[in-house]
Amino acid sequence: MRIDILTLFPEMCQNVYSESIIGRSIAKGLIEINARNIRDYSASKHKNVDDTPYGGGMGMVMQAQPIYDCFMSLCEEIGTKPHLIYMSPQGQVLTQDKVKQLAKLDNIAILCGHYEGVDERVIEAIVDEEISIGDYVLTGGELPALVLADSVARMLPGVLANDEAMEQESHYSGLLEYPQYTKPAEWNGMAVPDILLSGHHANIEKWRNEQSLKRTKEKRPDLYKKHCN
Ligand code: SAM
Repeated sequence: MRIDILTLFPEMCQNVYSESIIGRSIAKGLIEINARNIRDYSASKHKNVDDTPYGGGMGMVMQAQPIYDCFMSLCEEIGTKPHLIYMSPQGQVLTQDKVKQLAKLDNIAILCGHYEGVDERVIEAIVDEEISIGDYVLTGGELPALVLADSVARMLPGVLANDEAMEQESHYSGLLEYPQYTKPAEWNGMAVPDILLSGHHANIEKWRNEQSLKRTKEKRPDLYKKHCN
């Protein structure tokens, strides 16, 4: 899979995705992630990318032309039109089901807005869908784009050391994961549950399933209700 992030702040993105598990996956060739600077495509003499909003009001709006040309140059480079997602607080809120769906695509492009957002006409012209990472507003789309890229990348075969582990993680099956413990067996007067030290795999699995249901019911009754229906 190839992910291209269209942004005014490419270094902000590169610094994050070049680290840790995703960075190693890029180095191994399991995924390609690039950040493309929208400003490089500005047709204006001073490389402007934003202007004041028509109708008045505060802030600046990102102009359509640099975004459109940036996306078109990407389409030309890869020889196809990638699925273009605009990160926006007005989009559908990201879920694990959406992540699974996106992980099946070969090419994804992610548009990051900034300031007051982007000219509506470019959204109409090229964006396939708008995705939000939650009902709150951030200063720019870079952090949301990185959240989306990370969540999709970790679903790809080989990215995680153990691909099966992701199926037990929170949200994959609609439930939250069971509690996790590591050494030492006793810390600060608190012991790890005996069952986890028993070596009895069937019992451990049964306990983990029960814990998963219990904590989903306690922490996220909305998910528990959905799971039971
Ligand atoms: N004026 C816009 C509105 O009220 O809908 C908000 C613009 S926001 C300050 C600037 C940019 O940050 C957006 O264009 C978007 O790319 C990004 N952004 C902010 N909050 C976001 C969220 N919850 N999810 C995804 N992207 C977000």
